[in-house]
Amino acid sequence: MTVRTRADLDALPSYVPGKTVPGAIKLASNEVSAGPLPSVVRAVAEAATAMNRYPDTGCAELVDRLADRLGVPAGQVATGSGSVTLCQQLIQATCADGDEVLFPWRSFEAYPLLTHVVGAAQVRVPVTAGHALDLDAMAAAITPRTRLVFVCNPNNPTGTAVRSGELEEFVAKVPDDVLVVVDEAYKEFVDDPHVPDGVEFAKTQWARGRENVAVLRTFSKAYGLAGLRVGYAVASEPVVETLRKVYVPFAVNSLAQVAAIASLDAEDELMERCRAIVAERGRVRGALLGLGFDVPESQANFVWLPLGERTLEFNDHCLAHKVVVRAFAGDGARVTIGEPDENDAFLAAAEAWSAQ
Ligand SMILES: *Cc1c(COP(=O)(O)O)cnc(C)c1O
Repeated sequence: MTVRTRADLDALPSYVPGKTVPGAIKLASNEVSAGPLPSVVRAVAEAATAMNRYPDTGCAELVDRLADRLGVPAGQVATGSGSVTLCQQLIQATCADGDEVLFPWRSFEAYPLLTHVVGAAQVRVPVTAGHALDLDAMAAAITPRTRLVFVCNPNNPTGTAVRSGELEEFVAKVPDDVLVVVDEAYKEFVDDPHVPDGVEFAKTQWARGRENVAVLRTFSKAYGLAGLRVGYAVASEPVVETLRKVYVPFAVNSLAQVAAIASLDAEDELMERCRAIVAERGRVRGALLGLGFDVPESQANFVWLPLGERTLEFNDHCLAHKVVVRAFAGDGARVTIGEPDENDAFLAAAEAWSAQ
């Protein structure tokens, strides 16, 4: 007899990670192309000698460092095995069967999957014609069953960012028992001064007695630790407490904890890299616009090419040029900004495409 599992999972598509193709340049997963910093590698190598021991399940040292840096009490910071697990925990902490999770679409691929697995209902609100979050439509889509709203800022994969005034207006329209989660996976690449720092924004909301704003950040992107899995949430204390209830013990491994702390020590160097990526983003977008592509302005470490029905064709064309991009069939392709020579290889492929 086959084991009886949940029938609804048969129909659920699996999360599709960016492809790794041997010999090709990978611009598919929004990773930072430059390798880890030597100081971080050294700290991890030293910590490896103690891997027979369980990690600190509370990540106390890392939490203290983050709390200090962000100017919040340690009770307002929760860590996770990448911020994607924190997305799941936040849904688990807020939703029972049939409750609704609202998010823009297209946005982060994990939102629909995690929502479904937890047993909550998805409400997807299409992005605008300009590929930005439609916050008015999102506010209008809130129902008495809504428990959580994801605001991906900047939005993956369209790269657009919500500005302070817009976010302020939006949050004012959300009932204060509905959690607004500002997912800032790409925060370090933002150079528009009107885009809020989510934690500072949340603090002003908390000070007004609105505890329903939480922020997610990760060490996977700007800090270059995608392979080690560590991210964190900053939220009001009651929200952090419930997050801890749905935490799988020891989820953040000891090497990830050490690497995150070493990365905070090397923050200046890492942020310098981010600035170089931001400059490359401008160069790549400018070149693409010059080739006739439609490219929304991006505040992240990738650009979005809304190619619609031609997306898969473009994807195959790039693969033939040994560049792996991330295609979302029928919608568009997301291309990570890599090192200058990698970006040049992609631009050469894009040029060949527009010349055909
Ligand atoms: C990459 C990403 C994350 C988190 O990644 P982790 O590696 O799990 O920390 C979260 N949100 C968005 C929008 C992302 O693109």
